[in-house]
Amino acid sequence: MRFPPRLKSKVSVRHIFMKINQLPELFVKALPVLQTLEQAGFEAYFVGGCVRDLLLGRHIHDVDITTNAYPEEVKKCFDRTIDTGIQHGTVTALYGGESYEITTYRTESGYQDFRRPDKVTFVQNLDEDLKRRDFTINALAMNTKGEIVDLFHGLDDLDKKVIRAVGVAEERFHEDALRMMRAVRFMSQLQFSLEGRTRQAIVDNHELLSKISIERVREEFVKMGTGPDARRAFAEFLDTGLSEECPHLAGKKDQLTVFTSLKASPSSERVLWSLIVILLNLPEKAIGGFMKDWKNSNAMTRKVKGIAAAFDKLGQSPSDVDLFEMGALNLNDAIDAAFILGQPVDSKTLLDRYQKLPIKDSDDLAIDGRWLIAQGVRPGPKMGTLLNDIKTKVINGDLVNSELAIAKYVSQQL
Ligand code: ATP
Ligand code: MG
Repeated sequence: MRFPPRLKSKVSVRHIFMKINQLPELFVKALPVLQTLEQAGFEAYFVGGCVRDLLLGRHIHDVDITTNAYPEEVKKCFDRTIDTGIQHGTVTALYGGESYEITTYRTESGYQDFRRPDKVTFVQNLDEDLKRRDFTINALAMNTKGEIVDLFHGLDDLDKKVIRAVGVAEERFHEDALRMMRAVRFMSQLQFSLEGRTRQAIVDNHELLSKISIERVREEFVKMGTGPDARRAFAEFLDTGLSEECPHLAGKKDQLTVFTSLKASPSSERVLWSLIVILLNLPEKAIGGFMKDWKNSNAMTRKVKGIAAAFDKLGQSPSDVDLFEMGALNLNDAIDAAFILGQPVDSKTLLDRYQKLPIKDSDDLAIDGRWLIAQGVRPGPKMGTLLNDIKTKVINGDLVNSELAIAKYVSQQL
């Protein structure tokens, strides 16, 4: 790690084009953090997504701070800190019941493998830190007075609603190919378009996405797929060739194009994955492999299998037992998927029928295996069949869910 001599920052008034007079609560609460650094003789700015979202009037989930103080110096300014990513210059300061990520101005260099830099170098200049950022709208900083520092016309681009790479797009995607996925993800989340040269650079370099770990691609894919403009972003994901570099999506453009004319954006990550497996027409036994290759969790895979199976059943007049087996969550998600796909089902009737089921879960059954044994039923496969038979009869309303009624039924079977 190189520690350059401390210089006065080169940010000049000519780079300040706008001043926010009324800062939202989240920023006001964080002001003392910046002021603490300033009082210790350092520079400090709000930076990146939080400044962008402030200007767009979007919900802000956290504020990031950038400073010319080195991590050890940041730590001395606050009573409680966590070394979150100290080798990259990030320290988390705990202040006023909140936590703030404070990152030292840095540049990145030596992107040998199209992903993540080999070397992070601390710099003393905000300009250089902003230069390493991906898009002009993400390269905005704001000081304690609410003045916005904009070196790359990010404010114009916010106005024009475009995603434009900082500097030469081609070079920036060579440095870190994930940025191409980030471009389409921001398109969806912000309802922006890709600036022409930025788009062309994605078309020309989409193959580089294959160098990026699936986990990082997945994170951006999910944000893209569930954002408000998922359909238009997905169209670019397909048209630029990015989808060709993703697990199981290569050569599937025709099937996936349906995504671009969905009735609405998928409402959750699990509905997104379910729609993808439905569009790809994956049989139940192929869903596991697909989800695994996208490095999804087993829990997510289970949910998606459940929703996809429920969706199949919706198209085949589901019985009460089918509804019981789906469960409320899968039923709701499958109805949602059908609506999004423009194949609406009679959801009111289905949900009414579900609500009226005598039991919603096997645990709701008045009896269990142990109870059957106590009634003189011998443990074994036959007992399993009997238990299942009782459950089906109860669900269908052919048997009352009470010990008394079930005991009578069992005695007739023995
Ligand atoms: P979100 O609202 O999703 O958190 P964000 O813009 O804050 O959006 P982050 O991934 O949290 O996105 O990154 C914070 C900031 O770090 C970005 O605004 C951008 O300035 C910079 N950044 C993040 N990832 C990259 C990258 N791969 N290349 C260049 N700059 C990046
Ligand atoms: Mg962020």
